[in-house]
Amino acid sequence: MKFNHFIPWSYIYEDAIWNLVISCPTCNLKKSDNLAPKACLSKIEKRNKEYNFNEYNKDIAEYYEKCQSAGFLTLDVEGCI
Ligand SMILES: [Zn+2]
Repeated sequence: MKFNHFIPWSYIYEDAIWNLVISCPTCNLKKSDNLAPKACLSKIEKRNKEYNFNEYNKDIAEYYEKCQSAGFLTLDVEGCI
């Protein structure tokens, strides 16, 4: 298992828990510097709300959109992330 940055580390330079997910090595490598499909955004928002990680960041959706606008690619297939 690997820790993966939901919003690419190369975009936010931060290892905060609200942005970390666990993935298998294959998906971790595949995701790399890309964004996970938009469907994954609501999953991580839900998780962050459940575990109260939101107090560290309420705007993961905003990061996601800004990261997309900055030119990061979005994967079209959901991995285990
Ligand atoms: Zn996987």
